[in-house]
Amino acid sequence: MLDPGTRLASMKVEHLAAPGVRALTPYLPGKPISELERELGLSTIVKLASNENPRGPSPKALEAARRALSESHLYPDGGGFELKAALSAKLNVRPEQITLGNGSNDVLELVARVFLSAESKAIYSEYAFAIYPIVTQAVGAKAAVAPAHDGSRGPRYGHDLQAMAQRVDETTRLVFIANPNNPTGTYLTKSELRGFLDHLPKDVVAVVDEAYFEYVDAPDYPDCIAWLPDFPNLIVTRTFSKAYGLAGLRVGYAVSSPSIADLLNRVRQPFNVNSAALEAAKAALEDEEHLIHSVNLNRAGLVQLCEAFAARELSFIPSVGNFVTVDVAKPATPVYDALLRQGVIVRPVGNYGLPNHLRVTVGTEEENRIFLDALDRVLAL
Ligand SMILES: *Cc1c(COP(=O)(O)O)cnc(C)c1O
Repeated sequence: MLDPGTRLASMKVEHLAAPGVRALTPYLPGKPISELERELGLSTIVKLASNENPRGPSPKALEAARRALSESHLYPDGGGFELKAALSAKLNVRPEQITLGNGSNDVLELVARVFLSAESKAIYSEYAFAIYPIVTQAVGAKAAVAPAHDGSRGPRYGHDLQAMAQRVDETTRLVFIANPNNPTGTYLTKSELRGFLDHLPKDVVAVVDEAYFEYVDAPDYPDCIAWLPDFPNLIVTRTFSKAYGLAGLRVGYAVSSPSIADLLNRVRQPFNVNSAALEAAKAALEDEEHLIHSVNLNRAGLVQLCEAFAARELSFIPSVGNFVTVDVAKPATPVYDALLRQGVIVRPVGNYGLPNHLRVTVGTEEENRIFLDALDRVLAL
């Protein structure tokens, strides 16, 4: 036997990783403002790259977080009793149906760990949110990627539920559905999604990711939490990161049957949501006015951006979220880089298979204007 030192030196440490992990490409986050400041020495930077709320958090949420900080020597309430009680009252579900996460990404990972293994398969759509492939691969499960709509039977780039249903077989345990989807902003209607769930085998768990729920005002957009009594195999996830403006504190949740919540709870880290996040989220829920203002600001900003794209004859994917993905009609990475030099951070989505598109978060009216002016300068070059 080789001595341990020689043995380790003769192999690459990455070969020790589980196969799914070895093949992973890490999630690519939006560029932080501080990074661009360091790189370019710019002082005024507009970040429209991570679908954050341009109004910031509710002042009441901030105040609650500050109060919680003075108790930082104590562990958080691992059961999240008060936040669950507040969510339970608001959503008309029982507290036992709620699983809290360190952002809803945390919950999505718990779901993958509970329901997937090397023997099973998850289904998601082309152009779907990047976390689904990551959590699926990380646990060594197989993935079936359903082609998105080509525009003939549903909104181009949107989830094609028929194509997703066709991929269900005996090994399928999970289907990930983003409604609306990021980065496309497309959504599934009540009747489409209901029909899909009605026909989904009961031994397949459907995850409906409603991260942008609060922003959507389309009359045929479903509230899947209301359907939970009909589907013991349904999990709905939501977050405080987007409309509630608490992305930096990391808090999201799943609502499901109590049995699924119990399973998720078995793999959850006992203190996955910190005290400041728990308190801020609870206070944010109570600040209805801040939420309404945020949603209204988004609505106006979305119109501002879409009208500006149309005026420039740039096609974009119609969005119901707080972002819009625009086709710049040429490779988008140089446009992204040139925008960075103008102090504007947006999101290239080539990693999603959209090499000519940029995803732009809806900012304040002024931020949107700064972005559009910068885009004009860049596209004129
Ligand atoms: C932003 C986003 C999330 C939420 O992420 P958090 O971990 O809650 O910050 C989840 N799903 C989609 C589709 C998203 O775009």
